[in-house]
Amino acid sequence: MDDCIFCKIVKGEIPAFKVYEDEQVFAFADINPINRGHTLIIPKKHAENIWEMSEEDMQAVHRAAKKVARAIEKALHPEGIACMQLNGKAVNQVVMHYHYHLIPKSADEPEMALTRWELKPGDMDQIKEISEKIAAALS
Ligand code: AMP
Ligand code: ZN
Repeated sequence: MDDCIFCKIVKGEIPAFKVYEDEQVFAFADINPINRGHTLIIPKKHAENIWEMSEEDMQAVHRAAKKVARAIEKALHPEGIACMQLNGKAVNQVVMHYHYHLIPKSADEPEMALTRWELKPGDMDQIKEISEKIAAALS
C-alpha cells in the first residue's frame, strides 16, 4: 500500500529501529514507547486488521512475537510483557496496518492502564446468550 507508513518501513523508505526480520514479518521499536522495549511486530504484506490477515501471516507474526518476547526477557529482564493488538478506529487503532504490540514492564515503570481493569461480575444469562451467538457464527 503506497500511503501506508508501515509498508514504507518494510520497504526501507522510512527509517525504523529494526529488532527482527524474516521472510514474512518485520519487528521494530515503537517510537512513542509506553515503556522501555516497546516493540511492534508487523506482517510484510499489508493487511489492515485481524479480519484481513491471512492464516499464514497471523502464524508468522505470533511466532515472531514469541521469539522477540524471549529476547526482550533476556535483554531487559522485565517483570512482565503485555501483548496488545487493536482493530478498528473505535478501539483507537491509529496505523491501519496490522501490528502486534509487545510492551514490557520493568520494576521501576508505573502500572499501565491497559493492563488494569476493574473486575465486575457480568450478567450470566447475557454472557451465555452472547457466547452461544458467537459459537453459532463459527459454524
Ligand atoms: P495503534 O494503531 O493505536 O495500535 O498504535 C500505533 C503505534 O504505532 C503507536 O504506538 C505509535 O507510536 C506507533 N508508530 C507510529 N508511527 C511509527 C513509526 N514511524 N515508527 C515506529 N512506531 C510508530
Ligand atoms: Zn501497510
